[in-house]
Parts: sequence; structure tokens; C-alpha cells
Amino acid sequence: MARIGFLGLGNMGLPMARNLAKAGHQVTGFDVVPAACKAAGEAGLQVAGAARGVLDGAEAVVTMLPAGEHVRTAYLGADGLLAQAARDTLFIDCSTIDVATSRDVHAAAAERSLPMLDAPVSGGVGGAEAGTLTFMVGGPQAAFARGKPLFEVMGRTIVHAGGAGNGQAAKICNNMILGISMIAVAEAFSLGEKLGLEPEVLFQISSKASGSCWAMLNHLPVPGIVETSAANREFRPGFAAAMMHKDLKLAQAAASHAGAATPLGAEAAALYTLFVNAGNGGLDYSAIIKLIQGKA
Ligand code: NAD
Repeated sequence: MARIGFLGLGNMGLPMARNLAKAGHQVTGFDVVPAACKAAGEAGLQVAGAARGVLDGAEAVVTMLPAGEHVRTAYLGADGLLAQAARDTLFIDCSTIDVATSRDVHAAAAERSLPMLDAPVSGGVGGAEAGTLTFMVGGPQAAFARGKPLFEVMGRTIVHAGGAGNGQAAKICNNMILGISMIAVAEAFSLGEKLGLEPEVLFQISSKASGSCWAMLNHLPVPGIVETSAANREFRPGFAAAMMHKDLKLAQAAASHAGAATPLGAEAAALYTLFVNAGNGGLDYSAIIKLIQGKA
């Protein structure tokens, strides 16, 4: 069993750290918010007095932070994790951040010969609690081999997506598909309703026809048809619209950086911006149907 440092004990980080501890690892966590440290202590984790405390004797350090700027602050600079780390500590950043920052941090780790992985997740808080997350992992093969047993404790599906930053790339490409397809499903079911088509009938046909997609089959934005839809529970998330908005903006930043054309991704990002700015960020992302129907 390993000594593991864990930085960022929020909605996702705390249950992930707890699962590592439950599996027998010795986990020391830290969060800049005292209430998060207190909750971690109450959950039976060891809590460090400062960020650098998670490095003490750690074979691996996992970070689960809100955005790229937090990852930069935590890893880089004279006080950052990389400058303070002992040789051979494995760093695993599970935050969802922009590809460019992820690759910068990988490069800084490589300069110090420290193994690093980017490993964003999908599966939400429920998946973090149940230990059923999907990990999309970027970084060298040898580092992936070291990280895999830890991913297997926190998740169920683990995919090595290639080199530095490729985990982030996979996550935002996947979520761009999800955002665009949810809007398509919302538009089609709204049009169907205007044309006098019962949503049950449209679902019966479309779910078995060429229009079928994961968003429709799992998160249909119409109540009473698909059991797992947030529409059945007044659009309580699930996967919050604010999170989808974040991922679509990351996809746009990456597309602009890479010179890739993503016209539908851009449109999806704009629609979620409207939706979130109207105060709907806390609703499930499938609630975008309200915007399409002029009810947001
Ligand atoms: P959160 O805001 O609940 O937790 C992040 C924690 O990091 C906070 O407690 C914050 O205080 C802490 N933090 C910030 N800077 C820090 C630093 N320098 N040192 C130590 N702690 C620091 O967010 P979350 O919901 O746990 O999400 C974390 C990441 O996971 C995000 O990148 C998010 O996009 C991604 N994600 C979230 C979900 C979800 O459903 N919540 C799903 C998939 C991916």
C-alpha cells in the first residue's frame, strides 16, 4: 500500500481520496478551504497543515482542482509541488483543465524528471463516491503503469489516451459531442411537439433509428420516458449545465489554439453561455431544452 498525497478535497476530491484510504492507502490531503479540510478530517483522512504537506513521503500525489489557473498555482513556481517534490513522486492531475496548461505542467514536471499524468474523469460525484469513474489518461506509458492501480481503486474504466495532455483532449472532445447532441435532441423533441407528435412515439422511433444517440437514450430532456433522465426530477443534476459550459469553453479554447474548425461546438458553447448567464448553471445540462423552447 502506498502513501498518497491528495490536493483539492471538494465535491469530487474528497470521495476519491476516501476511496483510496478505504483501499488501504495512507492518504494525506489538503485544501485551501478550511471547511474542506475539516470535512476530510471528519471522514477519517489525515490532513496536512499546508499544501506542501501532501508531499511528505508520498509515492504519488493526486490533484483535483477547479480549473487551469489553480493547477498552475499548485504545481508551478518556487512554492509549487514540482519544485518541492522528492525524486520519482508520481503526479496525477485529475482536474478538468485546458490542454495548453496541462501540457505546460507536464513539461515542467519532465524538466525535473518527475513522472506526471493528466487524468480527467467523467462520472460525476456519484461516480467518485461509488469508485466507478472513467479516467482518460495522458502521459508516458511508464507513469500510466504506476498510476493504473490507483485509478482502479477510484474508477471502473481506465483508458490511456496517449501523451501529455491527451486525457484532457479526450475529455473535451467527448463532452463537445455530448453538448452538441443534447441540443440536437432538445431541438428535435421540441419540433416534434409543435408538429403534434407525442414524445413517447418520437422516442420509440428515433431511439431505434438513425437519430439515436447516447444523450437521447440516457438523458432525454422530456420527462416520463427514460428512467435516468434529469427531466424526471425537475432537471436537478446529474451533470450540471455550468460543467457542460466549462467543458465547451475548454473545447473552444483548444480548437482555437489548434486551428481546428468546430462550428457546432462554438454554437453549443454560445447556447450554454446564454443558458448559464440566465441563472440556470445549477440545472442539469439537459435542461437546455428550456432555452430551445423559450422557457429559460
Ligand atoms: P470543487 O470546487 O468542489 O473542488 C475543488 C477544490 O479544490 C475546492 O475545495 C477548492 O478549495 C480546492 N482548491 C483550489 N485551489 C487549491 C489549491 N491550490 N490547493 C488545494 N486546494 C485547492 O470542484 P469539484 O466538483 O470537486 O471538481 C473538481 C474538478 O473535477 C474540476 O476540474 C471539475 O471540472 C472536474 N469534474 C467535476 C465533476 C463534477 O460532477 N463535480 C465531474 C467531472 C469532472
